[in-house]
Amino acid sequence: MTQQTGLKRSTPMVDDTSIKQVQDDFISLSALNQYAYCPRRCALIHIEQIWSENLFTAEGRIMHERVHEVGNESRGGVRIARGVPLRSLKLGLVGVADLVEFHRISGDIWQPFPVEYKRGKPKPDHSDMIQLCAQAICLEEMLSVAVPEGALFYGRTRRRADVVFDEALRRETAETAEKTRDLIAGGITPPPVYAKRCEKCSLINECLPKKMEKKMVVKRYLERMTAV
Ligand code: SF4
Repeated sequence: MTQQTGLKRSTPMVDDTSIKQVQDDFISLSALNQYAYCPRRCALIHIEQIWSENLFTAEGRIMHERVHEVGNESRGGVRIARGVPLRSLKLGLVGVADLVEFHRISGDIWQPFPVEYKRGKPKPDHSDMIQLCAQAICLEEMLSVAVPEGALFYGRTRRRADVVFDEALRRETAETAEKTRDLIAGGITPPPVYAKRCEKCSLINECLPKKMEKKMVVKRYLERMTAV
């Protein structure tokens, strides 16, 4: 795809009809985030349709609602669109960007810059960056412009962290999209792997990672004992 470096004002921003037509077959942008955080969490939500809210997810939900509530606005050389529908035919993704800034480059040429809001602080994994990069890939495909950078805003630190969509992050995002699709299509929830992240996971009471891990150890032991 040949990409322009900026968006002309007359370029249609979003094709809602095509999003509605394809979204049943597509995976959500948030599923990528969940997969990168923990594949079992992604499976519990998207295969087993289990959802549970905790303090962290409630805070995140309220934060997203507030961002979407404010509406679109213009400030100097920046136009701000909130709750922007997105899709990528290439990666089979559909979702909504919290906020997309359009920075005026010159005249009527605007550069899209996605901003995703997260309640906590930067995570050690790449889950948030992957979700943001997937948004950029959607914008590039929909608008035929290059989107080289975006930002993550974290509620705990009240700071923006700029993210450059380099080749490595784009590759990781495409691979995560493929793995997420395979996981959901396969319909099998992977076993838990207990880690520090589990303590913040809203599905810990449904997943029971420690208890399930113990059960699996016993099961493997019995299988070994009876495998003669
Ligand atoms: S509790 Fe841990 S293993 Fe279970 S879904 Fe959450 S993050 Fe994954």
